[in-house]
Amino acid sequence: MKSNITELICPKCEATGSKEIQKRICIHEHMDFKQDIMSGAFFEWECPGCSERFFIKNPFLYNDSENRFMVYYIPDFEERSHKIPSLIKTKSEYDTDSSTLRIAADYVTFVEKIRILESGLDDRIVETVKLLYSKLTQQETNNLVYSMVFEGGGVNDDLRFAVFLKDNDFEAVIPYTLYEKTRDDFSHLFTDETAEQFIVVDQQWVLDMLS
Ligand SMILES: [Zn+2]
Repeated sequence: MKSNITELICPKCEATGSKEIQKRICIHEHMDFKQDIMSGAFFEWECPGCSERFFIKNPFLYNDSENRFMVYYIPDFEERSHKIPSLIKTKSEYDTDSSTLRIAADYVTFVEKIRILESGLDDRIVETVKLLYSKLTQQETNNLVYSMVFEGGGVNDDLRFAVFLKDNDFEAVIPYTLYEKTRDDFSHLFTDETAEQFIVVDQQWVLDMLS
């Protein structure tokens, strides 16, 4: 794990303090951090003056070498791809050649990507499922789906999503067989990605692929 000590000033009481900012992690070597990464506590800083907690936005590379994926959390990133940092290419524990490489520009997406990819699902298909479900919901109920977030499930198990409408939210359960059917219908439309960069895969990515 690579970290830097960073000086921080509390925006509320202006007390100064410091935090060890982690830049990247090979999660299977540091499983003790997993829970805090998934809860967000890992990224928080508690002000020594007023005890207020703040979420510190910094780029963070999450590497799961067993499930062969990396999620590069780059807060507020607005582009669709990012080249592999040259430092990572030289490190054997970061096997970028045989890993799925994704970008997450916000924390919710970061956690969602980890959940999807560690459950063995193909996130391109999961995004397609979301797109189809959102369109169907809109047609049937005239409600616009603002967001759909994968919450759990996986191979041979129902997929569970939090669905957010304008003034309502609920859980949607989608059978694994529907995921399989979506994969059979759509995966041939998705061109092979080169493993040479990190990319954003979301519903927009699916639309771009289909157009
Ligand atoms: Zn403070």
